Amino acid sequence: MLGVLTVAVLLVVAVDRTFGHSSLAFAAAIILLLIANAPMLRFNCGRCGKNAFFRGVVVVPWPNRICTRCGLDLAADHSQKR
Ligand SMILES: [Zn+2]
Repeated sequence: MLGVLTVAVLLVVAVDRTFGHSSLAFAAAIILLLIANAPMLRFNCGRCGKNAFFRGVVVVPWPNRICTRCGLDLAADHSQKR
């Protein structure tokens, strides 16, 4: 996730330096981030459905091991199901 973010930012900066300000490169970076975020948004708590990447109102780039809402051990839950 952080790697993709870095690539997206570098892509925008590189195109910006080469062609001048480009909203096309910015749009491409946004799409890239959305694709990278798709699996992340599916990583929800098996019991209450809370997203594991949200810690209160703060989004963290790594999933919580324990659900912040109901306290379910997410690592154990995922190894059981898959
Ligand atoms: Zn939960």
